Amino acid sequence: MRVLMVTSEMVPLAKTGGLADAVAALAAELARQGNDVRVVMPRYYNIDLGDLERVEGPLGVPVGFGESWGAVYEGRPGDGEVPVYLLDNEQLFGRNGIYGTRTEPDFKDNVRRFTFLCRGALQLAKRLRWAPEVVHCHDWPTALVPVYLNTWERVGFFATTGSVLTIHNLGYQGIYDKNEIHQTQLGWEHFHGSGFEFFNRLNLLKAGLRNADVLTTVSPTYAAEIQTAEHGHKMDALLRHRAPDLFGVLNGMDYDAWNPEQDPLIPHHFSHRDLGGKERNRAALRKEFGLPDDPARPIVGMVSRLADQKGFPELCGPTHGSLYKICTELELDVVILGTGDAWCEEELESLASQTPNLKVQLAFDERKAHLIEAGSDFFLMPSRYEPCGLNQMYSLRYGTLPIVHRTGGLADTVEQYCAENGGGTGFVFDKLTPDAIFDSVGWAIWTWYNRPEHIEKMRKRAMQCRFSWEDSAARYLELYQWAIDRRLGRVARTE
Ligand code: ADP
Repeated sequence: MRVLMVTSEMVPLAKTGGLADAVAALAAELARQGNDVRVVMPRYYNIDLGDLERVEGPLGVPVGFGESWGAVYEGRPGDGEVPVYLLDNEQLFGRNGIYGTRTEPDFKDNVRRFTFLCRGALQLAKRLRWAPEVVHCHDWPTALVPVYLNTWERVGFFATTGSVLTIHNLGYQGIYDKNEIHQTQLGWEHFHGSGFEFFNRLNLLKAGLRNADVLTTVSPTYAAEIQTAEHGHKMDALLRHRAPDLFGVLNGMDYDAWNPEQDPLIPHHFSHRDLGGKERNRAALRKEFGLPDDPARPIVGMVSRLADQKGFPELCGPTHGSLYKICTELELDVVILGTGDAWCEEELESLASQTPNLKVQLAFDERKAHLIEAGSDFFLMPSRYEPCGLNQMYSLRYGTLPIVHRTGGLADTVEQYCAENGGGTGFVFDKLTPDAIFDSVGWAIWTWYNRPEHIEKMRKRAMQCRFSWEDSAARYLELYQWAIDRRLGRVARTE
């Protein structure tokens, strides 16, 4: 199948979160299964053009009141099979930041920037005379593509092209001043007509959710949750309406990059048959984070964006968070690696200065992330919501038992510990409150000290769990076909 992926990030070129990993892995797996997959994304300022080839001629993209011109580069990053086309426009992407910066979290011209990406991707396909059977878009930055397919591109080159829009995180919708609609070159009638209107503002994701032939999200539980008022981010009514076209497909994980038997980023290798290396990684982790060398104490690790979504208000909110209590009342050590909201960074540093068994590093560091996964005993993810989540899958693979809130992909991947027979793969709590986090961490630590045979059993089971891209890609191919059938009117669609 000819699949055009349009995305704002993809490893190894640009990454802010799990989206970048998912797009790269899915594209690679689809190609491995014999499909003709091509990816289009922006050429951000920090992407080195060294290994890329320039596609001949400039690309004109209709945006705003005229046309913006860009260059196109092609490459196969990471020695992969998948051609990636990068749209280069100095004015729009020649700066630091994908969506914004620390001081300006959402660039003022984002509607223009991502209109250029969406329209540009379609223009490029036409230029290459390569008509995709399906376009797969990801999150709000590419949500304009299905709108264009239903308007400017309804007939002609893309007449039979189906569209799939995947929601990686409904919390980010691309909401801007309504006057920005002029950047899209869709007339005012589309503000309501194509579904952009959202409390009198322009909502890019909402229009995509209205227009895509098929909607997906990255776990079955999240697909159900986003249809509720609690997790729907004010899109729940629309999503309930589109429920027949909405599917949850669990992300896979990259078992080559995250393999404790040969991970080049960790000092000692190990497997479920021989966990000796894990002990040595624990010692290395203690050293790296400046913890005393005490093998009898378990380590709880975290690698995370420091954001409300990840449960940090409940964990370390200044008045009520449970982290201080966890560190002072339980016999354990805690290591946290992350960057994010300023309040959270300050609070964590302040807590770390009061509790010697809490170590915090405010950095984005791939190697340390691997070391924490390999050397910790437990991995804490108290997310308010978690569309899929990768870290708990990595943790399972590294025998680091996840302690998680039962939500989204966490609910779909971590199996509750059974105190009777040592079953399960982690510790799961139902309601996200500071007390629930404390109780679950306490339960895990109690089990560590009092039921070591259960911990051993769970570890081995966890390490053998598999969440493969092979299965997910096969499911996406079915949904692509569904999208094409919808586009061709073979099956009725909801709108
Ligand atoms: P999200 O995309 O919501 O941030 P995910 O769990 O889906 O959460 O993906 C997060 C990805 O980013 C994982 O690959 C994780 O290891 C990585 N990551 C997050 N913070 C850091 C950090 N400070 N250093 C290194 N890797 C990080």
